[in-house]
Amino acid sequence: MERSIAHIKEKLDKKEAVVMTAQEVSRLVEKGENITTKDVDVVTTATRAIMSGTYAILSFPVDCSLSFKRASTVLLNGVPAHVGPCPNESLGVLDLIVFGTAHSTYEHSYGAGHLFRELVEGKNIDVSVVTDENVSFKSQVKLDDIPYAKLYATRHTFKNYAAFVNCSTKPISTIFHAVQFSPDMDGATLSGCGEINPVKNDPKMETIGIGTRMLMNGAEGFVIGHGTRSSPEKPNLTGFADMHDMDPALMGGFKTSAGPECIASWAIAIPVTSQSVLDAVIKTDSDIPMVVNDVDKRMMIGSSTYADAWKDTDASVSFNPDNCINCDTCKPTRDCPMGAIYRNDDRMVLDRYMCFNCGLCSTLCPGEVFTAELGELHFKIDGKQYDVPIVLRQSDRKRAEELAGKLKKKVEDGDFKINEMVERIYP
Ligand code: SF4
Ligand code: SF4
Repeated sequence: MERSIAHIKEKLDKKEAVVMTAQEVSRLVEKGENITTKDVDVVTTATRAIMSGTYAILSFPVDCSLSFKRASTVLLNGVPAHVGPCPNESLGVLDLIVFGTAHSTYEHSYGAGHLFRELVEGKNIDVSVVTDENVSFKSQVKLDDIPYAKLYATRHTFKNYAAFVNCSTKPISTIFHAVQFSPDMDGATLSGCGEINPVKNDPKMETIGIGTRMLMNGAEGFVIGHGTRSSPEKPNLTGFADMHDMDPALMGGFKTSAGPECIASWAIAIPVTSQSVLDAVIKTDSDIPMVVNDVDKRMMIGSSTYADAWKDTDASVSFNPDNCINCDTCKPTRDCPMGAIYRNDDRMVLDRYMCFNCGLCSTLCPGEVFTAELGELHFKIDGKQYDVPIVLRQSDRKRAEELAGKLKKKVEDGDFKINEMVERIYP
């Protein structure tokens, strides 16, 4: 049965619409409920993960006493920005593009993802400028002083992603692990929020299209189209939103063994306009394939499902500081990709605000200060069964579920309006 978005909007306006999060739908399906298009009007979906294809456009008057014609190079907290494309001759204005994968020239573990979060947190950012006449000066700026600050995606929100193991005999530095990826397939990492991922819930892009309203890092923005390396079989999205409205807890920098990466979050409300949309919505983690790749050769070696990652596992780590046995080297403190673990007066502290729920600390702590069930990947290669423990998650399902819940409330309260797309992404 086809239903128009206009009809669903009318029901929302009259407070007669049924809005559910994707995880609520999945739990009902697992209980054996038969869900039809009459039972649900809008499903809210979300993902939070490392998304390298991110950049910011920032434009602001730089605070300095000297006049200059053009800026030549600019660093923000040491992170290189690309100057232009507008030259802004003699206006004292910097137009900058900052790539999400850029790293600080001073501190290798600090990247643009950290910078974007600190901007949104309202912190002062150091600005170092070299002009085209080779004159250097320094200044500071904070988000309130930046009239134009938008975050853009070149490739976000893949229809889930993949798991990785290292089939080689040597450790590998890679963006797919927070530490060196140990050899001989003794651990697996993964990305993808499974059943709650936005594109998984509308893989044919029947309701997500050019101009669809969404939340990026909590701020209202719009889908622009598909991203790089997107295909109808494995789509991803481009979009943008205003950094002034973002929630810092949904973004940030994530340290990998190949340098810092950028975290982003998306939430999309999917109107259930047809049986075809519903068929995708009711697929649970167990129905969603998770490709297993060899990180060394970047080739597929097997297939698992997202149930291995998210069914009967712990969404976050348990923290019991009294268990600490004071090891000579505290690996969780050293290796936490978010810098969320530290000592205070000889007592371990876990900063939940910073924590990404990756689970790594639970695999590194012999004292059981950090514990979590992260699950195992189950897959076959040439008929032989492999069961590989998951040691790191590069998607934060816990925060993504919270975000889907927040979007549900916004839709119900009329604070987020679903809209018709302007054009389909894949006709
Ligand atoms: S690894 Fe665990 S037990 Fe050892 S010092 Fe760190 S928190 Fe304490
Ligand atoms: S789960 Fe542990 S290692 Fe991962 S971000 Fe949180 S505190 Fe750090």
